[in-house]
Amino acid sequence: MAKQTSPVDWMERILADAIDSRASDIHLEPERESFNVRFRIDGILYTIESLTKYSQEKIISRIKVLSNVNITEHRLPQGGNFEFNYKDRIYNIRTSTLPTPNGEAIVLRILNREEILIRIQDLGFDKNQLETMNRLIISPHGMILTTGPSGSGKTTLLYSTLNELNKPDNNIIALEDPIEFQMPTIRQVQITEGSGLDFARAMRSVLRQDPDIIMVGEIRDPETAQMAFQAALTGILVFSTFHTLDVPGLVARLVEMGMPRSVVAQAIEGVVSSRLLRKICDSCKKPYQLSDYEKMILGDKSKGKKFQKGEGCKNCLNSGYFGRTGIFEVVHFDNEIRSSIISKEPYASLHKLLKEKGIKTLRESAIDKVFQGITTVEEIARVTGVPYEG
Ligand SMILES: [Zn+2]
Repeated sequence: MAKQTSPVDWMERILADAIDSRASDIHLEPERESFNVRFRIDGILYTIESLTKYSQEKIISRIKVLSNVNITEHRLPQGGNFEFNYKDRIYNIRTSTLPTPNGEAIVLRILNREEILIRIQDLGFDKNQLETMNRLIISPHGMILTTGPSGSGKTTLLYSTLNELNKPDNNIIALEDPIEFQMPTIRQVQITEGSGLDFARAMRSVLRQDPDIIMVGEIRDPETAQMAFQAALTGILVFSTFHTLDVPGLVARLVEMGMPRSVVAQAIEGVVSSRLLRKICDSCKKPYQLSDYEKMILGDKSKGKKFQKGEGCKNCLNSGYFGRTGIFEVVHFDNEIRSSIISKEPYASLHKLLKEKGIKTLRESAIDKVFQGITTVEEIARVTGVPYEG
């Protein structure tokens, strides 16, 4: 930031730049000698600019004023938010500060309604998975869980589903922390852990509000789990997210939380695991030869097939990727899956059972997308945590 640029102008410009480059977050990071700006785009951080320490305090103060947080507090983390109007759209910007020895680090999360409200059919499901999804979400009751690590698209999936079910004949109540954006005719409740209204307490009140569908942002504690499962067993359709990697892992965690196996088996209607993969940039994709390692991953099916990769261009910040798509594993619980859970079979047998049923795994979904020319083996390796040898 040149000395003559005001913090007000700089903020306007950096927010506009972030939105233009499709960033989900802006990171402002104080170092010893500099104040660095990074954008997260398609899940990856890019360094955008490096400012002087002179600019740091002014920008931080400006953000605190905008976010309506205590401007004189430097030693405690704070959170706030503000709205930003750009190109006829309103963006909700969520602010978080964190004290470090070099000053406060700030992250601005950019929430864009249009990007969150994607239709289910545009999320990246294949034909079979989409059919299963459509059957799952019209279940009259039961529990539908989405799983995956942070940033795996599970919240977007939940919002898309709720939006699909948001009709006059449904009473939908959503317990959220935070409310990412408001949806008409859905009763959204902001959960604030530590200030009295936690998930468990909210759940008790919600059950007296005659709901058809409840969305619980996340199941974190045994009490919430118990009430959510009870609701699912008594005629309510319950959606929630859970931090585990796959279906056997989910069952294991729920049992650890004290949920009886019979309740887990009977209440769960379906489980959807998701991850997000970057798509090859359309502006710079070129044919290329697979390496031996890539051939090994893709198997014999890759023989004689043509593959493409992004070379890197201005549009994709030289990454070769532009935008993201979801990959999924969709499991609709049937009697066999339920009895496997109830009869305490080892988790490996549940894995085996899902495989026998031909349920496509996340990895198989990802490989399909390589064959369709949407993504690369390198990207699968990044998302699934497998070392990549190009
Ligand atoms: Zn490109």
